[in-house]
Amino acid sequence: MSLSRRDFLKFGTATTTGVAVGANGLDLTPVEAVATSLRIKEAKVVRGVCPYCAVGCGQLIYAKDDKIIDIEGDPDTPHTLGRLCPKGAATIQLSNNPLRPTKALYRAPGSDKWEEKPLEWMYEQVAKRYYDAREKYFIEKEKTKEGQEVLVNRLEAIASLGSACSDNEECYLLSKLNRTFGIVYHEHQARV
Ligand code: SF4
Repeated sequence: MSLSRRDFLKFGTATTTGVAVGANGLDLTPVEAVATSLRIKEAKVVRGVCPYCAVGCGQLIYAKDDKIIDIEGDPDTPHTLGRLCPKGAATIQLSNNPLRPTKALYRAPGSDKWEEKPLEWMYEQVAKRYYDAREKYFIEKEKTKEGQEVLVNRLEAIASLGSACSDNEECYLLSKLNRTFGIVYHEHQARV
């Protein structure tokens, strides 16, 4: 069968409509709506803002028995009208995620094993290594090609890689810390 471009578009539209109506010809939209309303029935709802980026999409957070059971876009948010991007739509996993590590894990240099360590020990190690690396490798002045000495205040011995799971405030604090130390290798995972 040969299809013209126009036939192809008509065929595509008909197929999409068929999928929306359902394989057996039934419109499933009301059923889905009832299923959703049953799930959140009697849940307490609070308004929130997605923590991930500066778009600041409004969210409705549903909780039951001290547990978050659903997070969806808030239709009253004027700039998003209830929409969330895939990352924002998955924010419930910040709270409910059996795969999320809850203990600090450390792998010593040269080791092939992870060990559980107390969080306080981890904080101390990170602070100590940041401090030691800065003391040892900080570059205060540098010579230009012309031999002129200029102030650079730069640290090249530490690279900082942000995470897509860091929220706005965490990113802000990490940037401030890195700039204070003179770190120039300051990257974000989404750009790598
Ligand atoms: S839902 Fe997506 S676009 Fe909106 S604030 Fe969250 S991360 Fe940003």
